[in-house]
Amino acid sequence: MKGVGVSPGIGHGPAYVLATVVPEPPEGLTYDGDADDEKARAQAALQQVAGALESRGHQAGGEARSILQAQALMAADPGLAVGVKSLIDRGVAAPRAIYEAFEKYREMLIGAGGYLGGRAADLDDVRDRAIALLTGQPLPGVPSEAAEPYVLVARDLAPADTAVLSKDVVAAFVTEEGGPTSHTAILARALGVPAVVACPGATTIPPGASVLVDGTSGEVRLAPSEDDVAEAEHAASIRQAAVDATRGPGRTRDGFPVALLANVGRPADLDPALANGAEGVGLYRTELLFLDRAEAPSLEEQEAAYRAVLESFPGGKVVVRTLDAGADKPLRFLPASGGEPNPALGERGLRLFRAFPDVMASQLAALAAAVVGTEAELQVMAPMVATAEEARWFVNACRTAGLDSAGVMIEIPAAALRAESLVTVADFVSIGTNDLAQYTFAADRQLGALTALQDPWQPVLLDLVAGTATAASDNGKPCGVCGEAAADPELACVLVGLGVTSLSMNAHALPAVRAALAASTLGDCQLAAQAARAATTAAHARAAARAYLPGLADLGL
Ligand code: PEP
Ligand code: MG
Repeated sequence: MKGVGVSPGIGHGPAYVLATVVPEPPEGLTYDGDADDEKARAQAALQQVAGALESRGHQAGGEARSILQAQALMAADPGLAVGVKSLIDRGVAAPRAIYEAFEKYREMLIGAGGYLGGRAADLDDVRDRAIALLTGQPLPGVPSEAAEPYVLVARDLAPADTAVLSKDVVAAFVTEEGGPTSHTAILARALGVPAVVACPGATTIPPGASVLVDGTSGEVRLAPSEDDVAEAEHAASIRQAAVDATRGPGRTRDGFPVALLANVGRPADLDPALANGAEGVGLYRTELLFLDRAEAPSLEEQEAAYRAVLESFPGGKVVVRTLDAGADKPLRFLPASGGEPNPALGERGLRLFRAFPDVMASQLAALAAAVVGTEAELQVMAPMVATAEEARWFVNACRTAGLDSAGVMIEIPAAALRAESLVTVADFVSIGTNDLAQYTFAADRQLGALTALQDPWQPVLLDLVAGTATAASDNGKPCGVCGEAAADPELACVLVGLGVTSLSMNAHALPAVRAALAASTLGDCQLAAQAARAATTAAHARAAARAYLPGLADLGL
């Protein structure tokens, strides 16, 4: 099978196929015995589900916690319990009563559409868990312990599924759905586990079957021989050794410096960043601190969280992105106005910040306070900036808060096409290729079916990067890339050839990118970039660039 490799490395083990379908209890299912006992059974199942989700949320923390807590609230909903009881009073057995009571809520959510419509899947998950408990079926979910690391196969993985896992338990991920830049894929990658997404037919893999996963090429092989496994692991270890041999700050073979920075979000991301030699942080996704909250974290709490990151990189630069909420990262305490039919095109990122100036003032004040006494160089940037006027507004807000380096992300085509007018007001720019691809191709980054359109090798995306980098350099301003494109060693060389001055990525990708740059001259990178832009498809762009980057083959990259 072949999917899209989104987290490099070789993983091998028995398949654990995530159960996602709990069959519908038959219509007209009745019970023998006492109604009160049946009600107690239903209630106990719902309570057990709520408790399990709650405690899993605590264990996972961060982004996953809010999702799991919201699900726990669904399971404990009093209105739902009333519906279940009245069905049982009419003779309906507990599993079917739960199914029917949930169905009403489900229809309401789907009818509401947008973000609420998207929550129907969470509701189904709660329902299935309760029914599985009542009918003695295996619970949907991922084992967090295993005698031998398994290959987790699923239609898609929610952050809630991946957040509680570790490398000791999971050898690799394979999903049928999911794009390479979905936040789910990003979370999985942060664990440093090989992963393949958008792999058609993945869920037909028989449970327990031996699977070999190549997170670089995207190949998924069933029932590999011992030789196949040994060969793949050998090739990966040679590649790893070559990659690990390159140390120190990022630079091309002829010494052109390119800062290699880490993307961080959760406190757990700091250790891998340091271990992999990050020279600083190029994207601190602060929204992860806000996501699981009913209210905004206090100024003091924010200050402490920001300080922990700043103190980890004395002498390095730390680029903090202000709250990027909305769309797929909604906050309970910052509702976008009205029901948004298209949240990705709605009041998100900086737009939401402008609507809630207090939240912004508190975040900027916390940042200004956090940097005092640390040796890091703090830079602050805003997400989802579309116009020069927005950029100016944000830069002024930062100056007022006493923050002297204020930049903007380039992740909307309008901003990339008019980069000149943004770089003249901002101190730096950072290109978010994940959203830039999503908005350039009008292709939802969460949809596995649209993965091809999300490919950052698309020549038009490279054009937008080139235009932005040129505008920045003409005005003497730095231009970084902090989207997932920076984590692809070959593409990283092309980005440098396009004029990008720093690359920020998930920490596990740093060694391979460092080695790829060290194996290529700036001239190689520029020729590769020209060739890639001249191509007409993403695949041709990659192949054309490859011809100018011969050093990568020696590394096995
Ligand atoms: C991006 O859009 O490329 C980006 C870096 O931001 P995020 O992935 O958090 O949206
Ligand atoms: Mg983005």
